[in-house]
Amino acid sequence: SSGEDREASYDGLRLRALTKSFATFTAVDDLDLDVPRGSFFALLGPSGCGKTTTLRMVAGLETPTSGSIVLAGDDITATKPYQRPVNTVFQSYALFPHLDIFENVAFGLRRRKQKNVESEVKEMLDLVELGPQARKRPAQLSGGQQQRVALARALINKPEVLLLDEPLGALDLKLRRSMQIELKRIQTEVGLTFIHVTHDQEEAMTMADTVAVMNKGVIEQMGAPADLYENPRSTFVANFLGQSNLVEGAVVGRSGDVVTMDMHGIAVSVPAGRSHTTSERGWIGIRPEKVLIGAPGEALDAPGNTIPGGVVTDVSFFGVSTQYLVRMPWGQELQVFQQNTGRVTIFRTGDRVELSWRPEYAFLLDHAQDAS
Ligand code: ATP
Repeated sequence: SSGEDREASYDGLRLRALTKSFATFTAVDDLDLDVPRGSFFALLGPSGCGKTTTLRMVAGLETPTSGSIVLAGDDITATKPYQRPVNTVFQSYALFPHLDIFENVAFGLRRRKQKNVESEVKEMLDLVELGPQARKRPAQLSGGQQQRVALARALINKPEVLLLDEPLGALDLKLRRSMQIELKRIQTEVGLTFIHVTHDQEEAMTMADTVAVMNKGVIEQMGAPADLYENPRSTFVANFLGQSNLVEGAVVGRSGDVVTMDMHGIAVSVPAGRSHTTSERGWIGIRPEKVLIGAPGEALDAPGNTIPGGVVTDVSFFGVSTQYLVRMPWGQELQVFQQNTGRVTIFRTGDRVELSWRPEYAFLLDHAQDAS
C-alpha cells in the first residue's frame, strides 16, 4: 500500500505507539515521534518523564512493551543492541582506564578487525581535537576531554544515530558551555542524527534544531526552539522553557486573529490560537522580557495592552538587565526583565508603575490544565 511505501521511504528514526510499562507504571506512553535524518534533536523534560527509557529502547537496552522503532525504513524493534546502527554516549564516559586514548577510540575497529585503524582513529581524534593527547590514559585528561574521547569512540563506529544521555551532566558550567558549542560543531561536521536527552532547557534550546518536550511519558510539544519558546501550547511547555507570566482571563470577543480577553477587569488583546467561545476562560501568557515597565500614564511604545496600577515589590539589577517583580491590582506578581540598552529608568521598590506589551507577544493557553 502507499502507506507502507511512505513508511519505508522515511529515512529518519520513526517511533510508533512506543510504550514501556514497568509493572503497573507506564514510563513511556504510546509515543509517536519522527526524528529527521541528520538533525540535532533534543528530548527535553523533567526527571522521571521517560526520556532515558525512550533512549534505551532506541538503543535496544530496554524492550518495549509495545510499539515499533523504525530506522531508515528498517524495523529494528527486535534487533539486538550491537546489531543496531546506533551508539550511545553516557554521562559516565565508561572509558577503559588501562588503555590510552588512541586505543580507547580504536577498540571497536580492532574488535571488528577493520583495516585503516591508524588513519581512522587519527581522523577521529582530530575531529574532537584530541590528537596531541593520543598516548595519555583517561585519568590524565579533564572531564571535558574524557567526554570527547567517549564521543570519538562512539562516532568511529559510524552509527546512523548517536544517542547522548545527559552527556554534559558531569561537567561544570563553564566547561559545559564550551562542550555545547563543540558538540554542535562536531554534529554539523559529521552530519549524523544526534538525539540528546537533557532536563536542561537552555542546553536543549542552544544546541538542538528540533526539541521535543516530554512530560509524564508523552511528548507535549515539538518544534524549533524559538517556535516552542514563542508559541507554547501548554502551561507546562511555557513554564519549562523559561519564565512566563500566566494571567487568568475570560474571552470577551474576537476580531480576525485576535481575541479580546477580560483580564481582571482590563481588556487585553491576545493572538487567537484556535476558535474560542465567549466567556471561555484561559491563561494569557507573556514572557518577562516582552513586558515594558513605565511610570503611570507614561506613553510606552507598545501599542495595545496597557495594564495600570502596578507596584514594584522587588528590583534586581544585573547591569545588562534589571528584573522586577510588580504586584498587580488583582494581587498577582508579574515578572519584568528590562534590557538596559540606552537610557533606562531604574524603578525602586514601592514605585507605582504601569506595564504594557504588544498583543502579538502574548500567547493564549487553555484553562483546562494546571498553571504550575
Ligand atoms: P531522569 O532524567 O531522572 O533520568 P528520565 O526522564 O530519563 O528521568 P526515566 O529514567 O526514563 O526518566 O524514567 C521514567 C520513569 O520510569 C521513572 O519514574 C522511573 O522511576 C521509572 N523507571 C525507569 N526504569 C525503571 C525500571 N527498570 N523499573 C521500574 N521503574 C523504572
